[in-house]
Amino acid sequence: MISQPILPASTDPKDFVIATIGSHSALQILKGARDEGLRNLVICKKGTEDVYKRYGVADEVIVIDDWSEWDSKVEEELIKRNAIVIPHGSFIAYMGHDKVGTMQSMYYGTKEILHWESDRKMERQWLEASNLKLPKVLEKPEDIDRSVIIKFHGAGGGFGYFIANTPEQFYEVKNRKYPDQNDFVIQEYVVGVPIYAHYFYSPITQELEIMSFDKRYESNADSIGRIKAADQLAANIHTSYTIVGNIPIVVRESLLPEFFTMGENVVEQSKKLCGKGLFGPFCLECIVTRKLEILVFEISARIVAGTNPFVEGSPYTALKYDVPMSTGRRISRDIKEAIESGRLEEVLG
Ligand code: ADP
Repeated sequence: MISQPILPASTDPKDFVIATIGSHSALQILKGARDEGLRNLVICKKGTEDVYKRYGVADEVIVIDDWSEWDSKVEEELIKRNAIVIPHGSFIAYMGHDKVGTMQSMYYGTKEILHWESDRKMERQWLEASNLKLPKVLEKPEDIDRSVIIKFHGAGGGFGYFIANTPEQFYEVKNRKYPDQNDFVIQEYVVGVPIYAHYFYSPITQELEIMSFDKRYESNADSIGRIKAADQLAANIHTSYTIVGNIPIVVRESLLPEFFTMGENVVEQSKKLCGKGLFGPFCLECIVTRKLEILVFEISARIVAGTNPFVEGSPYTALKYDVPMSTGRRISRDIKEAIESGRLEEVLG
């Protein structure tokens, strides 16, 4: 069920507050709001507020003991202040999809698209219909005839993913380490470099922008090569993909047209799937092969932490804007323009 908030009639951005929860990309979102002249607030679970105070980016820090206080306490405060909630990766993880759907406060983005993004089959349907190239998916372990990556459902940050090259290898690892987990997908392992493309689509300007690109710094995938192959085997290391940080990337300029087309196709297709379609920040998680094929293995329909290196903007936003434009700031600018032109409803889910 999706609830509709009651919208204030004001066209003055000063009557609103940008709100998010203290984690993930909150620093950037808060600074971005301030840079656009909007008030902001951050909701922190006790013990995590220090960083938001240290950097002084928040006008108000609301500290709660547990996320369960959201219904009883937090939402009421948000509604009182005309707060517009900006979701990020941790926000969705803490709240859960159902709660996001029934939230009463104003929410930037499309809530319905979360269903398409969180269900692997629906996500694939969306990306395929957008004419993107995707890694092959194998039906069953017996079909494994190449390098594949096994992904468990809901595995945060790639935890527990493993690589197999034959059905025997698959069963050896699966039975030994994950005997009770049967909700997984077997995906062709694409050899190439991971690139995460950060987009922004504004329903106000109706323009798709490329904000930046990053790659992730993952433990231990990014450190295994630091010891020689024989030592890797001797240590019996299993590759894991726990994200520790993000590294900025600039792509070959000749790849940009394809990246733009991919983003545009995803937005176009999303409009056929649900009401307002996808808008605001989103990310296509890609592998680029040596033949410069771009394969997409996942979409994130919100701001990703890979935009965090670009608090002061990226080489791409520097080309377009005359101020440092982070993705966080771009969100606030979208909201500000929507409020000023009486179109707030168009950017709320
Ligand atoms: P997320 O953390 O967003 O869920 P994943 O967990 O899907 O991302 O991916 C974890 C890691 O596995 C990333 O480093 C990604 O580059 C890699 N990866 C995922 N799918 C593939 C694939 N089909 N081929 C090669 N590498 C992949």
